[in-house]
Amino acid sequence: MSKIKLGIIGGGQLGSMLSIAAKKLDIQTIIYCDDVNAPAQNFSDEFIFGEYDDKNKIQEFVGKVDVITYEFENIPYETLNEMNKSKTVLPKPSVNRLIQHRLAEKDFVNKLNIRTTRYVEIEKKSEIETLGDFLPGILKTTTMGYDGKGQYPVKRIDDLDTLNIDFSKGFILEKLVKLKKEISVIITRFGNYSYEIYEPIENSHENQILKHSKIPAAVSKKIFDQSVGWATQISEELKYIGTLCVEFFIDRNENLYVNEIAPRVHNSGHLTINAYNVSQFENHVRAVCGLKKIPLKKLSNAKMINLIGKQIEPYRKNLKLGKNEFFFDYLKKEIKDKRKMGHITKLL
Ligand code: ADP
Ligand code: MG
Repeated sequence: MSKIKLGIIGGGQLGSMLSIAAKKLDIQTIIYCDDVNAPAQNFSDEFIFGEYDDKNKIQEFVGKVDVITYEFENIPYETLNEMNKSKTVLPKPSVNRLIQHRLAEKDFVNKLNIRTTRYVEIEKKSEIETLGDFLPGILKTTTMGYDGKGQYPVKRIDDLDTLNIDFSKGFILEKLVKLKKEISVIITRFGNYSYEIYEPIENSHENQILKHSKIPAAVSKKIFDQSVGWATQISEELKYIGTLCVEFFIDRNENLYVNEIAPRVHNSGHLTINAYNVSQFENHVRAVCGLKKIPLKKLSNAKMINLIGKQIEPYRKNLKLGKNEFFFDYLKKEIKDKRKMGHITKLL
């Protein structure tokens, strides 16, 4: 049988790690990305550079692959839908459309009777003046946000005067949760009631960017079970195929909230590469390519540290690693502030 050819839209570190996992399974990867320097081309079999609405380039890509997936959610729905007419796109384009829009995503979660933060859609600045109840809060763009981009903390209504926000973009205002902890649950769904679930991961952020992840998460059994249950319910309801991540908040009164869903592999799951028999990346590739599901086994507790901006430099200069430490360099051309450049996983 000839090798399966997996198309991956997006060429960042997640695309790299998906390509590495695919290679291990003898699956070929073709990356499509709008960044000519996309780091994932260092790890994939082929690379096509093109915009996400370039019909000709996209046709070329679709013609080369058997099945298509993606490593980030901000892809136009029309593009995924068009691709899905000739080759299967997984997760389904409609799932991505729902999740890439913060308002639709939160409405969906609430309909399942799962708690989210309190939120309201904002179309005009003047609306916020009547929404004191939601302050202190965070104003977020409804689309295209990641790593805290497109987010504005609002303590008092007056804060808006100094922010200079373009409200034509579409925003939600979210009430700030008094955070005790943040966790995430990663699940790979293969089909009806067929899953592999990773145990909850405890995450800490600096400047709204993930800095550390670790397992086990120091949470009660109730929170453990509720987070795993909600992630399972969400993936089943979406009829999801592949790896999905649910980010959660835990407040100071031990209430659990869904923060957001990522319809893809997730930064907090990098530690699954070294801490489990099958990583979130391999499981994603297995699910979207229709390969066998392997029972998941945890091999070790672990901690992952993101290297942001210049933090990568000492590691590039051959900093000695311990026996149970693993360094991953994303091979991004340019070091930039707030840019995720690599990570370290330590088995504990
Ligand atoms: P992104 O898409 O950038 O990941 P998130 O909504 O996950 O956006 O926000 C990033 C981080 O900002 C969260 O992980 C959390 O630390 C903080 N944050 C966001 N919204 C809230 C909130 N309503 N209450 C408390 N902290 C929040
Ligand atoms: Mg987030």
